[in-house]
Amino acid sequence: MPKATLRDIAIRGKRLFVRVDFNVPLSTAGEVTDDTRMRAVLPTLTYALQEGASVILASHLGRPRGKVDPAYSLQPVAARLQELLGKPVRLAADCVGADTEALAQALMPGEVLLLENLRFHPEEEANDPAFAQALARLGEVYVNDAFGAAHRAHASTAGITAYLQPAVAGLLMEQEITYLSKVTDHPEQPLVAILGGAKVSDKIPLMMNLLERVSALLIGGGMAYTLLQVQGYPVGDSLVEPDCLPMARDILAKASERRVQCLLPRDHVIAQDIKPDAPTRLVADEGIPVGWKGLDIGMPTVVRFREVLRTARTVVWNGPMGVFEMPPFRQGTVEIARAVAACTGTTVVGGGDTIAALALTDCSQAMTHISTGGGASLEFLEGQSLPGIACLNER
Ligand code: AMP
Repeated sequence: MPKATLRDIAIRGKRLFVRVDFNVPLSTAGEVTDDTRMRAVLPTLTYALQEGASVILASHLGRPRGKVDPAYSLQPVAARLQELLGKPVRLAADCVGADTEALAQALMPGEVLLLENLRFHPEEEANDPAFAQALARLGEVYVNDAFGAAHRAHASTAGITAYLQPAVAGLLMEQEITYLSKVTDHPEQPLVAILGGAKVSDKIPLMMNLLERVSALLIGGGMAYTLLQVQGYPVGDSLVEPDCLPMARDILAKASERRVQCLLPRDHVIAQDIKPDAPTRLVADEGIPVGWKGLDIGMPTVVRFREVLRTARTVVWNGPMGVFEMPPFRQGTVEIARAVAACTGTTVVGGGDTIAALALTDCSQAMTHISTGGGASLEFLEGQSLPGIACLNER
């Protein structure tokens, strides 16, 4: 872990400004329907409070477009957090300003203040220096535990560190960096990447970066069909991105240059419509007929992928193998989840859809690390520097 963390500094009696990702789904009745992201930062909060710090929490919620909108108030989050922490959580009516500063100053060790939605101010996303400074006035130490927002250079995720030091990683951030680095920095070999999901265009930089590191690349999902088309395999009406054909060609060339085993599905569950009750067929070497779409990898492909995964020491998985939301096209993703779960090496899973697919199995517990950040984990694995991490102090 190259960055300093909460554990590296003295926090007793200090006011911590903690940026978290409480961008949680709300019901129409205004209740938190999935508190996974809130639970993920509990280790940081519990540690800070036990160590005698006071905590000022800042988050965005939804897209209020720089205006105060009660539909995006953090009030439901405050209520849920109070239950999770078992102690009172006060919500400040605004994230900056004299009243909020007074509330922050009055905090006693072990107390928690939650700020109202950062994105009620357009200056947050604009990374406005004066706004960053106003946020910085609230705390004495900056802690970033919002991995899910670390790929954005906003006032609360990056700009604030110009005015508030020390700036350290929270424990969730530490965990994310530690496990994602096991893929990008000297991974234990063999490293195998499994990529899927709808669009190949989203995954091209990721594939290019991973090809420098992996011993095998297993590709499924809609993104496989652009690559299969390049290979001259009949893909029928499957999802193909014509603009990406040249880049797909480059990827296959790079894989063969670097002697990376690049496995594409060779048999498919196909249907004429993406509907749960559409009649399906299985096809293999003959290819996919016109009028039909490949919507899941077939079992012989699962067996080939499983064989490669059996000897992997590090696995990174991003993207479902098929239209897992519908039972007829789910089996490939479920079987791959089981194969990853059976792996004895380090297994790192990222991406919202992959996590949703994993939730349909009993395999989540078996993974070494499930990343809480979709876009952020993708950019990290692409080898990009994330502004919310780059601005933190080195260890
Ligand atoms: P992504 O957001 O790129 O990870 O894509 C996830 C989505 O890809 C899921 O909603 C899947 O239903 C969809 N998907 C996976 N395989 C296919 C396929 N063969 N054809 C069309 N969509 C697919």
